[in-house]
Amino acid sequence: MKLKLIYLYPEIMNTYGDRGNVMLLEARAKDYGIEISTDYYTLGDQLDLTQYQLLFFGGGQDKGQNLIARDLMYHKAQLSDAVKRGIAGLLVCGGYQMLGSEVGLADGGVLEGLSILPVKTLVGKNRKIGNLLVQSEQFGSLVGFENHSGNTILDQSGKALAQTIKGYGNNDSAIDEGIIYRNLIGTYMHGPFLPKNIQVADWLLSRAVGKDLLTNTQSSLYKVSISARESVLGAL
Ligand code: GLN
Repeated sequence: MKLKLIYLYPEIMNTYGDRGNVMLLEARAKDYGIEISTDYYTLGDQLDLTQYQLLFFGGGQDKGQNLIARDLMYHKAQLSDAVKRGIAGLLVCGGYQMLGSEVGLADGGVLEGLSILPVKTLVGKNRKIGNLLVQSEQFGSLVGFENHSGNTILDQSGKALAQTIKGYGNNDSAIDEGIIYRNLIGTYMHGPFLPKNIQVADWLLSRAVGKDLLTNTQSSLYKVSISARESVLGAL
């Protein structure tokens, strides 16, 4: 089996170890005998999403989001088509925000988002920083590190990834975290996220290949991930 992954704006949208999510997906794919190749997309490049089964879009400062907003909007139609087609993807923090309808920034500006996810992000007065523990119906407990000012609100049709147990998550109300939408997962969890939540990586790979992968619990990567996760859970 072969998979192609596109990593959007790696040099601009890559805060708090987010690149580690791509490294984890590449390593975990090998646990399943999947040959994965990663391409990088940045400002002004040609982009043909029809050749990709996986997408990663990391976090960024307001400045970085401003920098990419116009370029990203140029690809709105093909990103929307790719999501409808079922591309699997992980969107972290700023990347998550940019696929909503709008993104309020700390300087009072508002960026137009792609309106692919049923969310909007309003400017937040305080930064939400710290360890995050959430409980997901689909994945059980998930852990990560959040650092954002934006408050993301899901509309009626949005299904949160998880309920917040410790920390904030989507917004100041600290009720829910992230979103699960078609084959996309949006989250505020940096860290990077996937190495401590490998069950989510397995879900993304399964969606990308179009079948449920039988969890490989024997690999050293899996064992290290589980012990890392347990150490964080124990410290929270
Ligand atoms: N700039 C956005 C905010 O502060 C996203 C931050 C991030 O991606 N870590 O809410």
